Amino acid sequence: MTKGIAASPGYAAGPVFLLQEADLTISTESIANDAADQEWSSLVHALEQTKEDLRETKQKVAEKIGEEESAIFESHLMILDDPALTGDIQSEIENERKNAAWAVHDVFSKHAEMFASLDDPYMKERASDFRDLEKRVLKHLLGVVDASLESIQEPVILVAYDLTPSDTARLDPQTIKGIITEIGGSTSHSAILARNLQIPAVVGCPNITKQLAAGDMAALDGSSGEVILHPTADLIKQYQEKQEEFRTNQQRWKASAQELAVTADGRRVEVAANIGNPSDVKAVLDNGGEAIGLFRSEFLFLDRDTLPDEEEQFQAYRQVAEEMAGRPVIIRTLDIGGDKQVPALPMDEELNPFLGFRAIRLCLDRKELFMTQLRAILRASHYGKLRIMFPMIAIEAELKQALEVLEEAKAALKRETVPFDEQIETGIMIEVPSAAIIADQLAKHVDFFSIGSNDLIQYTFAADRMNQKVGYLYDPGHTAILRLIKQVVEHADANGIWVGVCGEMAGVPEFAKALIGIGVKELSMTASLIPQIKYEISQSSYAELEKQVREKL
Ligand code: PEP
Ligand code: MG
Repeated sequence: MTKGIAASPGYAAGPVFLLQEADLTISTESIANDAADQEWSSLVHALEQTKEDLRETKQKVAEKIGEEESAIFESHLMILDDPALTGDIQSEIENERKNAAWAVHDVFSKHAEMFASLDDPYMKERASDFRDLEKRVLKHLLGVVDASLESIQEPVILVAYDLTPSDTARLDPQTIKGIITEIGGSTSHSAILARNLQIPAVVGCPNITKQLAAGDMAALDGSSGEVILHPTADLIKQYQEKQEEFRTNQQRWKASAQELAVTADGRRVEVAANIGNPSDVKAVLDNGGEAIGLFRSEFLFLDRDTLPDEEEQFQAYRQVAEEMAGRPVIIRTLDIGGDKQVPALPMDEELNPFLGFRAIRLCLDRKELFMTQLRAILRASHYGKLRIMFPMIAIEAELKQALEVLEEAKAALKRETVPFDEQIETGIMIEVPSAAIIADQLAKHVDFFSIGSNDLIQYTFAADRMNQKVGYLYDPGHTAILRLIKQVVEHADANGIWVGVCGEMAGVPEFAKALIGIGVKELSMTASLIPQIKYEISQSSYAELEKQVREKL
């Protein structure tokens, strides 16, 4: 098994179709002095053909998927009409005596590199638009016919190094049952189109094009990002059946996703979403998320060489607060270290990074970093309902220290007369067993707990959450875990605070029900899982769930 980024939910299994990149080798031979006009007119012709293609693709996408999704191609058309861009190409042909293909490659690459170097993740993704357009124009210039995608007749799993938005728009869900790519992120246009086409997809899967060849078998789970290489015939059948079931259920669940989650006997449970970026909010609302139970703020810090300053962080948090329009949003302060490394914050190598200098431990040490983030969150709290949550709290002294820094941040903003929500609620992740054990002490300082079961399970069983070999120990339903959570809920209840769960177990129906039975008030998960969990809640009786866990424990 291997793992990538979950990009479009659902299951798929079958033979692999390996998408070969078209050969777009460019000659770097200078042109003759009198050939510039000829090169320029070939370029103008290629641009016209490319625009014609784009208009056609735009129309197809508008019909097949939707007007909104087809807008990408309108922006591509605008790029090709930009006189600054065509002017640069013309100047390279005329003044530097480059042939048209060479000049196109040069100018488009420069634009792509410029976008790729930007800090904003959305702008960064725009680099792929320029790469996509470059290929389109070059195909026409070089006369390369690229029919490989259209040649697919039988159901396949499409494996590619990367898929451009135009490749993705050409996909036929009748034959393309799943997509696995080597690069890409969940907010790339290709991932968005895959979700709209409802083709299960996993992106950013390391080395996948080298691990699979045409005709090999593969299976994927687009909700978890898991990819199985060379599955058995039995497993393939299982995955295909899971997908059919998923499709039927998806429709049923989606129909009631915008309703509040209440059990059949009237117990209200808040169903929230986990996000990593402001751009994830749309999916939260589409899937009926009632709140954001975990904003993994460290995602604003990954994949870049500089730290986001207070203003940039403020804008990101404010955007989420505003788009959620009064629904609660829990922003978790920086949780880096462990498997999440930030290039702008190089750290010493550690023997056991998961037990090392991470999350709140690092923030309390790098107070200026922590202060910047707290100020940004507080300022954004003026624009919606934000809550602050500290990760990896292990002892009471850490929590007290964190709260002191928060008080300092508040005092500074007051002095500066910057508005913020003075009633902002604070909470902690319960993900270190010591915190669960002293939950009664910790509860005195905060308004809520959110159980980080991903880490709580690994630390309780001393079993690395990424190590398959000890996977048998990694059991969210084990009595040891459920008892620990129950104890946390009892301490919280006794102190009048509420408990949520934001680890992956919250999005698995079986465990979600056990958690509700234990008395958890909020469940936070990947947005695409919300409709199903809401449905399951509406079909359950709290009294029954409570009885079941009581008996089990
Ligand atoms: C957790 O540990 O359960 C959690 C939600 O945090 P992360 O997965 O980001 O470590
Ligand atoms: Mg964690």
